[in-house]
Amino acid sequence: MSTHRRIAIAGIIHETNTYCRDQTQLGDFHIMRGEKMLQLEGSETQTGAAVGMCRELGVTPVPVFWANTQPSGTIARDAYESMKAELLEALAAVLPVDGVFLDLHGAGVVDGIPDLEGDLAMSVRRLVGEAVPLTAAFDLHGNVTQEMVDALDGVFVCHEYPHIDQHLRAREAVQLINDMLNENFRPSVRVCSLPMLMPTTTTFHGPGKELKEFMRELEADPQIINVSFFHGFPYCDVPHVGSHLVVTARGNGEIARDKAEIAALRVWSLRELLRPTSLSAEEAVAKAMASAKQPVVINETSDNCGGGSPGDGTHLMRALLDAGAANACFGFIVDAEVAAQAHEAGVGTTVDVSLGAKTDSLHGEPLKLRVYVKALHDGRCIMQAMAKGSRINYGKLARLQPEGSDNVDIVVGSRRSQTFDTEPFLAVGIDVTRRDIVALKSSNHFRAGFESIAGEIITADPPGLTTHHIEVFPRDHAVQPLWPLDDTIHWKPGDT
Ligand SMILES: [Zn+2]
Repeated sequence: MSTHRRIAIAGIIHETNTYCRDQTQLGDFHIMRGEKMLQLEGSETQTGAAVGMCRELGVTPVPVFWANTQPSGTIARDAYESMKAELLEALAAVLPVDGVFLDLHGAGVVDGIPDLEGDLAMSVRRLVGEAVPLTAAFDLHGNVTQEMVDALDGVFVCHEYPHIDQHLRAREAVQLINDMLNENFRPSVRVCSLPMLMPTTTTFHGPGKELKEFMRELEADPQIINVSFFHGFPYCDVPHVGSHLVVTARGNGEIARDKAEIAALRVWSLRELLRPTSLSAEEAVAKAMASAKQPVVINETSDNCGGGSPGDGTHLMRALLDAGAANACFGFIVDAEVAAQAHEAGVGTTVDVSLGAKTDSLHGEPLKLRVYVKALHDGRCIMQAMAKGSRINYGKLARLQPEGSDNVDIVVGSRRSQTFDTEPFLAVGIDVTRRDIVALKSSNHFRAGFESIAGEIITADPPGLTTHHIEVFPRDHAVQPLWPLDDTIHWKPGDT
């Protein structure tokens, strides 16, 4: 054991929905350089946990460069090239290091570079050389390429969706670097890719949970360091879109490859259980109003900012109002204009608003409403479930009550984000446990904050950029037929 070991920590994190209209620019990223990254220490994030693990191991963490933003459209080429150049330059300045940990997502797409993570990991590998241990933690919504696997000595994807364990996987990735140095060994990493588009599937119950547990059983083999099940990100038109099994193991690549194939076969055999289903907004509201298990939580999965949607869609809110839902709250709809209008008017005033659906018509039409301004908030919150302890800024929040409704509240936010926990409601004085219906925009992350209080959860899937109706998206770049778009596919290990 050396107390002088240094592990560099860096990352560029983006989940790219290539079907978004606008490109993502440099100014959209939240960038932290060097020591600033230590602000994340103590939070349940990948970089925060990597710093903490270094300290526990008596290793000096060397924070280099970190950039992250909300899921959104393809990253502009100059934005990526600028961040990558800065990361590599900052890393070069701290060399030599004993290892490098990368904080990544897996579904990053740059204009002209379909695989951000492969490109970045390869560049880091070239800079530090073959001998330096290089590992990474990922989001399970990544799409994997051979370049990613070839560049890395260890791949650690979160096991859970909601991603409540990102910090634990980052700790393992740092631990592996230390083990490699202590024991002088080199792991093998192998990928087995499946020709399937998996809908957003929670790991808290159902087939997602069953598969998660199967992967953990495979990890019981002492030769196996990690079994990573990348569900994949279907809202990406890239050659390597799909689900992927990546295994990091001791020894030559045979054990890793065999386990990856066993894991992939298991996922493939259960695929019918993963087939996406959908309720329209109207169907979801009718089901919620007929339920006796209050509070009923309705999640509008198709307008999930966490998958690149705008968050200003009005389909579900309109359905709630049209159905005359009472004692209901919706948190939240992203509309900075309306939030500013309410903040200007002040608490206790009544204003006419044109709410939401300002990005495009796919996500609905604006709601023309006369609303009472019940409460206002600056939108700065601390996450309490997933990524617990990290700061989040929803921008100005406004709690609006539509005239003529029966105890219905609409929370309006100013910055794109999904709802992760009850904080955006609490911020404006709403106790969701007292409501019959609690509506929000998220696919599964909200479960970390709502599953323990919801009587029932109903998923609404009106039109939107993150719909379960994945057949609506054109696929010009996928290299092979994909289930469930093509039900006739016969696949076996070795085919991909
Ligand atoms: Zn994810």
